Amino acid sequence: MIKKFLVTIIFASVLYSCGENKTTEKKNEKIVAVSTITVINDIVKNIGKDKIEAYSICGVGVDPHTYHPKPSDPKLISKSDIVFINGFALEHWIEEMIKGSGGNKKEVVVTEGLTPMTDEKGYGDPDPHAWFDVKNIKTYAENIAKGLISIDPQNENYYSANLREYKLKLDSLDSWIKEQINSIPESQRVLITSHDAFRYFGRAYGLEVKGLQGISTEAKIRTEDLKNLIDYVKLKNLKSVFIETSVNPKLLEQISSETDAKIGGTLFSDSIGNEGTPEGTYIGAVKHNVNTIVNALK
Ligand SMILES: [Zn+2]
Repeated sequence: MIKKFLVTIIFASVLYSCGENKTTEKKNEKIVAVSTITVINDIVKNIGKDKIEAYSICGVGVDPHTYHPKPSDPKLISKSDIVFINGFALEHWIEEMIKGSGGNKKEVVVTEGLTPMTDEKGYGDPDPHAWFDVKNIKTYAENIAKGLISIDPQNENYYSANLREYKLKLDSLDSWIKEQINSIPESQRVLITSHDAFRYFGRAYGLEVKGLQGISTEAKIRTEDLKNLIDYVKLKNLKSVFIETSVNPKLLEQISSETDAKIGGTLFSDSIGNEGTPEGTYIGAVKHNVNTIVNALK
């Protein structure tokens, strides 16, 4: 009888302390937001600011197309409150990772509502690099705000105000890019890169883009494609070709050595720069790209 009574007391106090922990947790802890890539992570930071702790699965300079999950990734996802995913078939590895983390997490696909460009080179795959059209980032930011509000409704006004402020910055970035690109002579408005990450950028701002590889770095490079690109650079008499921070530069260097085109600089494609540097934000990385492109092609 006494034993049964004791068990009841212990059980009740366990229940009580769990309940208590939960309330303190809600009061003191920030929302843990995990994004798949650094581009999304930066936008999440701009909307969540000091209400959240933000983490990116792919770090700076990491190629998301060929990403091999780290052992710590499922742990990070299991402690998160919300996961932000680009979608458009960028993250082949994320569903498995979320399943492996055990929890049914709140998932937000930040491209929701956008129509993808599709791969011209073959299989009609969606092109994931929607973030290089700045107007699309407004949709990313809206989806992120909606996601945060859905799990933290008492801070709706806070997230909405941050969204409005960020969208104004995106508007001025968008017009600045247009002005800058218009200063390049029309015949030089061609962007040659390692992989096709800039098709949305080209469509939005009036540049022809050609990547040596298709929309994924997983694709094999054919000698024929390399040769065609070299011929094209010669035909157009292009001043520069560009390498990317998250892709091996070797073949672009070969194109440069076989033509009159210089390496015009390094572009951020699937990752932004190091935290704490001007390129460590989406807006800073885009400005770096545009300045690099304009200086090299003008
Ligand atoms: Zn890419």
